[in-house]
Amino acid sequence: MKPPPFEYHDPDTLDEALALLAEFGEDAKVLAGGQSLVPLLNFRLASPERIIDINRIGELSYLHARDGRLRVGALTRHSMLEGSALVARDWPLLSEAVRWVAHPQVRNRGTVGGTVAHADPSAEIPVALVALDARFRARSLRGERTIEWPDLFQGPMTTCLEPDELLVEVEVPPVPAGSGHAFTEYSRRHGDYGLGGAAVRLTLDGDGRCSDAAISLLGAAPTPLRADAAERLLVGAAIDERAAAQAAEAATEGTTPSGDLHGSSAYRRSLITVLVRRAIVTAASRAQENIDG
Ligand code: FAD
Repeated sequence: MKPPPFEYHDPDTLDEALALLAEFGEDAKVLAGGQSLVPLLNFRLASPERIIDINRIGELSYLHARDGRLRVGALTRHSMLEGSALVARDWPLLSEAVRWVAHPQVRNRGTVGGTVAHADPSAEIPVALVALDARFRARSLRGERTIEWPDLFQGPMTTCLEPDELLVEVEVPPVPAGSGHAFTEYSRRHGDYGLGGAAVRLTLDGDGRCSDAAISLLGAAPTPLRADAAERLLVGAAIDERAAAQAAEAATEGTTPSGDLHGSSAYRRSLITVLVRRAIVTAASRAQENIDG
């Protein structure tokens, strides 16, 4: 199908884009990589009066570290994240997660800002960003604000971004020394959205006990979900198969993933439990390798 008719704007600068959003934001959609928006238009699931294409705004495409924190411009393509030696070295959880996103063609167009703003609970990059305690910067003509992840993700395909706001940057804090990570997922075919998944980041102290843990679930809830109870179980514990299994059970306890023809809710919950357990074991072993040098 073809998209419904719309007015097309392609601003050259961030200021121009913000002015357009201030004037037309209520009836407009931002176009970044188009990998989610264009199918929505073609299926007529979205019919905005205006499209504001931000692809000409080069100032939104960057990836660098400042003050030890990773800064990623909203228009940075998934493939740039995937190919970054800096990210692979200092934020390897992100490198691992992005390889699960679709296929190279989609990763060449899709943007970090787009996948965050789209807020699909099965999207890998937001789940990894939540495990990394990322923050998000939004701009409008009214000013700039920084949004913590619990505030940003409000529901499936829903964020707290206002109609006149543009997501401009993702900021990721440094990962402590002695940390290990793992991203696990299961999908029926390579490149499909996962039926479930988990992003885990663990830090071990000098005695091999867990001093910090972050577990973020994919597909378990309407938004990426941090498994607080499981994290609390791990902190202070020596991580072995038993501790990982207990934490994995705690991680999915009380969750009701939505079921569909690819898998019932109960199946997905049990799948995510297995994936969390595996991710904890892998992350702990990588943390130990990092400590041993
Ligand atoms: P767009 O499609 O351009 O926009 C998506 C939404 O975000 C729109 O509502 C748009 O208005 C809004 N938006 C975009 N940028 C901003 C911004 N800076 N500020 C405010 N709002 C903004 N994704 C996965 O995570 N995992 C998968 O396995 C996966 N498989 C896919 C398979 C196929 C065949 C396709 C076509 C896509 C798949 N995707 C998958 C989606 C892909 O990752 C998209 O890139 C991503 O969801 C959206 O990024 P985008 O830059 O294309 O955004």
